[in-house]
Amino acid sequence: MTEPSTTVDLGTLVSLCKRRGFIFQSSEIYGGLASTWDYGPLGVELKNNIKNAWWKAMVWGRADMVGLDAAILMHTDVWKASGHAERFNDPLVECKECNSRFRADELDEQICSNCGGELSEPREFNQMLQTHLGPVQDDTSLTYLRPETAQGIFVNFGNVLTATRRKLPFGIAQIGKSFRNEITTGSFTFRTREFEIMELEFFVRPGEDDEWHERWVTDCMAWYTGLGMNAERLQLRVHDPKELAHYAKATTDIEYQYPWGWGEMQGIANRTDYDLKAHSEASGESLTFFDDDTKEHITPYVIEPSAGVDRTVLAFLADAYTEEETISAKGKAETRVVLKIHPDLAPIKVAILPLSRNEKLVPLARKVHQSVQSSGVMGGLVQYDDAQGIGRRYRRQDEVGTPLCVTVDFDSLDDDAVTIRERDTMAQERVKIDDLVDELKKRLNG
Ligand code: ATP
Repeated sequence: MTEPSTTVDLGTLVSLCKRRGFIFQSSEIYGGLASTWDYGPLGVELKNNIKNAWWKAMVWGRADMVGLDAAILMHTDVWKASGHAERFNDPLVECKECNSRFRADELDEQICSNCGGELSEPREFNQMLQTHLGPVQDDTSLTYLRPETAQGIFVNFGNVLTATRRKLPFGIAQIGKSFRNEITTGSFTFRTREFEIMELEFFVRPGEDDEWHERWVTDCMAWYTGLGMNAERLQLRVHDPKELAHYAKATTDIEYQYPWGWGEMQGIANRTDYDLKAHSEASGESLTFFDDDTKEHITPYVIEPSAGVDRTVLAFLADAYTEEETISAKGKAETRVVLKIHPDLAPIKVAILPLSRNEKLVPLARKVHQSVQSSGVMGGLVQYDDAQGIGRRYRRQDEVGTPLCVTVDFDSLDDDAVTIRERDTMAQERVKIDDLVDELKKRLNG
């Protein structure tokens, strides 16, 4: 394993996220709710862009995938059959002095890191978050907030098969919220109790599962690097048999080198036929695939790539953060902060900047903004910004990763042209206003 080296430090990233409206502490005006975060105006754009890019690649970009959006709340029997109600546990130890709680498998030392006190023996702690449905709060109304989206896919296997007449191999993809009552949280949005997952279950013939597992590991890695993530900050980690989840035959994690070190961003598990068989047995419904060639009912094996949306957002942010030494317009050395993020993910696609708030420039700049925005082809936000000097505005857009700025200046009044400035190279080029939308579209799509 290589040591973490070049990534941005976490404090800098957290501060940028708050200052520029990517991520805020939840319930901040009440002192905050620990390890719970809200995505601000730019954060929601980035997060949606990541989810859309994933959906585009995994569902629209493949002939062997369909989508699903199952409810967060499910029948309690689902969690009994899947094993989660009983076995979705982490080993918990408690300090005998100050009662701080830790995950036993994450401890470096066998004493409390808070007060140095003695720790208890580990006990199993179930991570399922509970709630009650209806007016009476007793055992019959107890249910859970799902800890993964996968079970919604397994219990709908028969419905999807009937509705879509798919043949093996095929997959069902889903993006949605999940909840886990984590013992320890922290590291910003890396480990929270409410988070989002982009997950798919890929059903294959038994015997073809190992090969498909490998293919999915390769495909998932390619998705991150295809969107510009630095391959040197990615690594695979194969699970030791002892750490495998109760349903898994093999799991490979894709780890990212976060500001504090390597951490799991995605797990790719071979869940075998465990879940379909368990639900079939518990519900009495057959969850098999009928093979027309062999005239046999098969319970497929399943490969599950499961990526945390929030951890992916954090990785793309950390990965894109760059500081460069440059010379300002006034000839002074300065540090330029640039979020070198892929245009598909950038929260703002294009910023329209009048050189100043001069009354002659503003109407033309507004017209240019209107035409670019209403073209509807930028695939995201088009922002108009006229506050402060032009240099500062470029820096502001650089810091949030806007790939292209368009400047409307006094020459524009005469030559019907504007300047396009590229974020990464700072190269500037003059373009006729009539050609602007096509030119921006071309550049954004690479
Ligand atoms: P960890 O070992 O970090 O607890 P896990 O192995 O339990 O994670 P999985 O069950 O494989 O995680 O969940 C799939 C993905 O969901 C993970 O790869 C991760 O990106 C994301 N994820 C899991 N737990 C959390 C959490 N508490 N907060 C944010 N994302 C999470």
